[in-house]
Amino acid sequence: MVLDMSTRRNLELSETMREKSKKGTLLWALDKTMTSMGGRTIRRWIEQPLLNISDINDRLEAVNELKDKFMIRVEIRELLRRVYDIERLMGKVILGNVNCRDLVSLKNSMGQIPYIKELLNNLSTSLIVRKNNEIDSLNDVYELIDKSIADEPPVSVKEGGIIKTGYNEEVDRYRNATTEGKTWIAALETSEREKTGIKNLKVGFNKVFGYYIEITKSYFSLVPETYIRKQTLANCERFITPELKEIEDTILGAEEKVVDLEYKLFIEIKDKIAFEIERIKRTANGIAEMDVLCSFAEVADRDSYCMPVVDNGDEIQVIDGRHPVVEKMLDEGSFVPNDVNLDMSDNRLAIITGPNMAGKSTYMRQTALIVLMAQIGSFVPAKSAKIGVVDRIFTRVGASDDLAAGQSTFMVEMSEMANILLNATNKSLLVLDEIGRGTSTFDGLSIAWSVVEYISDKIGSRTLFATHYHELTELEGKSGGVKNYCISVMEKGEDIVFLRKIIRGGADGSYGIEVARLAGLPQAVLSRAKEILKDLEDADINKKETKLRKSKLPIDGQMNLFSIKPENKGCQEVIDELKTVDISALTPLDALNVIYKLQQKLRNS
Ligand code: ATP
Repeated sequence: MVLDMSTRRNLELSETMREKSKKGTLLWALDKTMTSMGGRTIRRWIEQPLLNISDINDRLEAVNELKDKFMIRVEIRELLRRVYDIERLMGKVILGNVNCRDLVSLKNSMGQIPYIKELLNNLSTSLIVRKNNEIDSLNDVYELIDKSIADEPPVSVKEGGIIKTGYNEEVDRYRNATTEGKTWIAALETSEREKTGIKNLKVGFNKVFGYYIEITKSYFSLVPETYIRKQTLANCERFITPELKEIEDTILGAEEKVVDLEYKLFIEIKDKIAFEIERIKRTANGIAEMDVLCSFAEVADRDSYCMPVVDNGDEIQVIDGRHPVVEKMLDEGSFVPNDVNLDMSDNRLAIITGPNMAGKSTYMRQTALIVLMAQIGSFVPAKSAKIGVVDRIFTRVGASDDLAAGQSTFMVEMSEMANILLNATNKSLLVLDEIGRGTSTFDGLSIAWSVVEYISDKIGSRTLFATHYHELTELEGKSGGVKNYCISVMEKGEDIVFLRKIIRGGADGSYGIEVARLAGLPQAVLSRAKEILKDLEDADINKKETKLRKSKLPIDGQMNLFSIKPENKGCQEVIDELKTVDISALTPLDALNVIYKLQQKLRNS
């Protein structure tokens, strides 16, 4: 399924809108993967839901089996915990910047695979059987690394110590020569002391002169003739012997050669592993997908999700649906579940009204998320759910502006709306929140009204449409498939109690001022707002507006200044005078004067 950028953002799939964090997103609620590969795969699945029913059901059945077989799932997840990022490690193998510690990590990860496969053998759903066949136990690669690379190798691959004893004869030979030489040198100090009678004779090593025998001045007389003087220091002299040099050559030569040889062998091993890339990649992919399926099963089990019935039908029917993220943010059990009933005939378009803060956005997003979750193969937060597959989910939610790209808030809203109207089909799911609120009431209502008509009559998408324009509830019964819903609240004196339950019918009030009071607006502002609201409600003009909306929508949404009846004589004079002004003959200053005069006239009238 294609999900455009704004839908991905609005539904907060993998990043929250405000903080751009993972916490608070669908990914956060669903991701209980144990491996980094699983983590990447679940993100990809969430961003690319499926359309094919049998693929979706394959995943759902696999999740169902993993959910039921709790012990097997726990054991698989425990093994997965020890699997490193095989894909990234193989990336390093291919690029050539892998080191031996990476190879050991690769080996340890591969070491878990046979056990994972054994556990998967106990499961029977077709997707799991298929994945198990794709997962290669990679015994040969494991063995290769196990017998060649040291268990705790150094980071550098060019300083030796990386190849295990027993893997290569030549390496072993050089190593023996080095060890034997070093043992001989270690014994030299004692034997030379005995031979010469020099008690403080020392054997040392430095990078410039190599191995030497050091004798202090007081013992010079005892130095044997075979000693060759090499260096004179303040208090002592340093000597070498031909034998010592010979052993030194063997040790240093062998050390140098073994380092070169170990590096060469490492490159050979790395190339052999790289050659197996296809098998390893397929296996890594299988492991990652099993990790995601286990994660879905884990979440379904922990959070009491149900297995949705996904088909090619028209219906989206959810009983006791919950928002997967919001319910986690609230105290346990305090989220109020709600039903959804959409289809492609009588219940195509739900107009949802209700006070601010009632839970309209939450309800609409939860519906979109439940559909999306079902189509990625996850269980859903509901008592039961029947999902007729949707081809796309479109959302137009909340105000956002893209000032940097030269678009105002309203312009963004309208271009997103245009995109939806041009691309949605009757198989799409539309979530539209407060369309038209970014402009004047008349323009906004007109746009919202005609958008509803266009969607229900021309496109036929299953749609959730939240609005504060209560006038839109008049569309039920007039425009095909439109049904009114509202989120219930209870009045309690001056306060309102949010019941969060969606019920049939239109809301009876906006309660904007009550919500503003909850938000802490100063009392003076609230009292004045109440006065104004009352005046507006009482005003005659209100009725006329309703009539205008009912009978005929303004064609271009622009109000005609001269269609307003002047209320007094001064007003009429101003209008008459305006009509006679010859704008082309006015300088800007003259125009200002005219405006000033007209304004004075209106103020005095
Ligand atoms: P507005 O019209 O001002 O945008 P709204 O009606 O869209 O408001 P939401 O933003 O959906 O309201 O919900 C407001 C808050 O109410 C949420 O942040 C959530 O904490 C709570 N809420 C929403 N739905 C439920 C529910 N079903 N159960 C419990 N709490 C809920």
